[in-house]
Amino acid sequence: MMAQGQAVVNFAGGEPDFDTPEYIKKAAIKAIEEGFTKYTPATGFPLLKEAISRKFLRDNKLCYDPTQIVVNCGAKHSIYSIVQALCEKGDEVIIPSPYWVSYPEMVALAQAKTRFVNTDPGNNFKLEPKALKRNITAKTKLLILNSPANPTGSVYSKKELQEIIDTVLKHKLYIISDEIYEKLVYDGKKHVSCASLDKSIFARTIVVNGVSKSFAMTGWRIGYLACADKEIIKAIGNLQSHSTSNPCSISQKAALVAISSAKDALMQKMVKTFEDRRNCMMEGLDRAGLSYIKPEGAFYIFCNIKNTGLDSVSFSEKLLTKKEVAVIPGVAFGRDDYVRLSFATNAEKIVEGTKRIHKFLNTL
Ligand code: PLP
Repeated sequence: MMAQGQAVVNFAGGEPDFDTPEYIKKAAIKAIEEGFTKYTPATGFPLLKEAISRKFLRDNKLCYDPTQIVVNCGAKHSIYSIVQALCEKGDEVIIPSPYWVSYPEMVALAQAKTRFVNTDPGNNFKLEPKALKRNITAKTKLLILNSPANPTGSVYSKKELQEIIDTVLKHKLYIISDEIYEKLVYDGKKHVSCASLDKSIFARTIVVNGVSKSFAMTGWRIGYLACADKEIIKAIGNLQSHSTSNPCSISQKAALVAISSAKDALMQKMVKTFEDRRNCMMEGLDRAGLSYIKPEGAFYIFCNIKNTGLDSVSFSEKLLTKKEVAVIPGVAFGRDDYVRLSFATNAEKIVEGTKRIHKFLNTL
């Protein structure tokens, strides 16, 4: 529709609308000019792994040796590799629902079985330890936890994480802690990595992060993972070595500059912009009379459409064709009574889009 010149307001995007910062682009150009255009070690070139190790210490108080880190082709690839390395037929993986769309598919690709654990909007869609306990069986291998979360924007507190990891440790599970939205946290809240809570959970957590969301680098395809268990790291390294080899050498050089420079002022400005946009979208949705879970992080608002009587695909299709606003149907994330709106777009579009949603709701 956009290609045909229609003025669609796009709330469907899953990436920052900012351009990659100039100093990062320059690092990539320099890498090309200096001929850094050949294979690197499969798990990432040493300087980048050292910078990631320093980042974990600086931002998360996590002490990983560079040999405990693997650089992948995006955080999606990191999670895929972990699930492939850890899981096989007969294993069960617990995924709190709503969930990021790719998790269950990755579990299926490893021939393991997903056990969805429903979460409650009254608890900001966060996994409750009791529900986790109820779903653990002798076959459970892994829990995938995402904070700040896509699609809900929920952020787990230290206390909430502590209760979950007590159960994880008791049942000797592994956790993938997907922290890709780490930097995008609002209202003065702080992101906590569950791996940092104590030594035992450090040993059973594989932390995933990357540069896609924090540095507006989605197209560069650099993610990374860290894990204390060297057997797991070795298995993931082998898998990568025989499948993709190293992630793009030029992108690795750009990621090195992004991760090691950590330009706080630039980052704070970006977070403040997202927070303002979130507030703007919440005001628009309040006016439209659509209820939602207030996001504490990431750049999504998960809106309840139950009162409209429409399923999430019909709602999204009608909204798009009648009012030219694009949203993602919640069924993709496990909730057919919700839709996901992204506020990774400018305030003008947010105001216009929420006005159109208001008008659309009045037609139902
Ligand atoms: N994890 C979550 C929760 C995401 O929302 C995304 C991207 O949308 C990713 C991982 C993947 O990030 P990347 O672009 O680095 O592969």
